[in-house]
Amino acid sequence: MGMKSLRDWLQVLEQKKLLRRVERDVDRKFEISALGKKADGKYALLFNNIKEANVPLVTGIASTREVFAAALGVTKAEVVGKFAAAQASPREWKVVDKTSAPVKEVISFDVDLSKLPIPVHHEKDGGAYITAGVLIAKDPLTGIPNLAIHRLHVLGPNKLGILMLPRHLWQFYRTAEAAGKPLEIAIAIGLDPVLMLASQAITPLGVDEYTIASALYDEPLELVKGETVDLEVPAHAEIVLEGRLLPHVRKTEGPFGEYPKYYGPASPKPVIELTAITTRKSPIYHTIVPATMEHLLLGAIPREGGMLQVIRSAVPNTLAVHLTPGGTCRYHAVVSIEKQNEGEAKNVMFAAFSSSQEIKRVVVVDKDVDIFDPTDVEWAMATRCQAGRDVMIVERALGNKLDPSSDDGISDKMGIDATVPYGADPFRFERIRIPGEETIDLTKYIET
Ligand code: MN
Repeated sequence: MGMKSLRDWLQVLEQKKLLRRVERDVDRKFEISALGKKADGKYALLFNNIKEANVPLVTGIASTREVFAAALGVTKAEVVGKFAAAQASPREWKVVDKTSAPVKEVISFDVDLSKLPIPVHHEKDGGAYITAGVLIAKDPLTGIPNLAIHRLHVLGPNKLGILMLPRHLWQFYRTAEAAGKPLEIAIAIGLDPVLMLASQAITPLGVDEYTIASALYDEPLELVKGETVDLEVPAHAEIVLEGRLLPHVRKTEGPFGEYPKYYGPASPKPVIELTAITTRKSPIYHTIVPATMEHLLLGAIPREGGMLQVIRSAVPNTLAVHLTPGGTCRYHAVVSIEKQNEGEAKNVMFAAFSSSQEIKRVVVVDKDVDIFDPTDVEWAMATRCQAGRDVMIVERALGNKLDPSSDDGISDKMGIDATVPYGADPFRFERIRIPGEETIDLTKYIET
């Protein structure tokens, strides 16, 4: 795969007529996010003139499953399988020299975030937020790198507030803080969709997401040493910020409009102090407007890949998984199986709940149901499911803190078996069908 930078990807979008330029002056408060939201699911926007900033901004670089499929070089139906396969067979990355790393064209140890066009996205946000920064850190115990996207609140020219949910970076930070030490981090901004997707992989602690990116590219990802931190960063990024998460420092972070379409509240959170910024000569800044399809699908596709792997290890005849947009692409899953034993749907539910904290509801359907079609899934629930027999509820498991209905992250889980009971009279559950309906051409019959 030749494509390995945001620039390469913007050229691909241009060829596909999926990139539009905005030359008018725009304000970084609300105007960029309002326009980005309007273009969501249609095309990317490149803003060339942002008031009080000399850096252009792009948003919506992938906002449909078809576009993510194009980035991965597969069809829409193959996306989740491709991601699951990359996760199953990760590949080594390599370090390149500074001279072959475009992100080192300009190096500065005087970080001033006000020079970047960082937007304020939603009405009640606490300020400007970096939303498309892939944060790199190493486990202080093993030295293995970890990638993740965290919301980053601009608190000063070189200070960022950060939300860390109880996942990998949070564990690293707790280890460092317990030793009274800062945790070195880097934040890469302006990446292609493949590396963005890899950063979202749901993996056990100790799996380096760079190796999943290399597997997705079918070649080693090129990284380069940091200037002020002992970390390797993407050589082809537009911008890399370097810094440290400070121990025992908390500052107010939030509120921030999040993917469930609610605000995450303000509270005291850890703080990053930036020590260097390296960029290309004329960098392009990337923002993800929260809760758009660009945001939701970035979370959904890797989670679906991870889920498929976990569920298949429990129930091998699992066919496909889908995290639905109405379920924030995180909370509600639909799983299709080729049922071979009664009870399998329940095993699918257990595996799905365990695959990701965020899963709240799992609907299991047979293979004739289109998991991407909410009407078809509801039809299966309406005609193949009896609540008393087919609904399972697990109370007070660990869920997602950003779900406002949860008790600070404590959440109930619900499984719905909408599969035909095994051994049922096949005619009773046979879908009606008109022979020839699929191929008949109505327009040839209508008088014009
Ligand atoms: Mn990880």
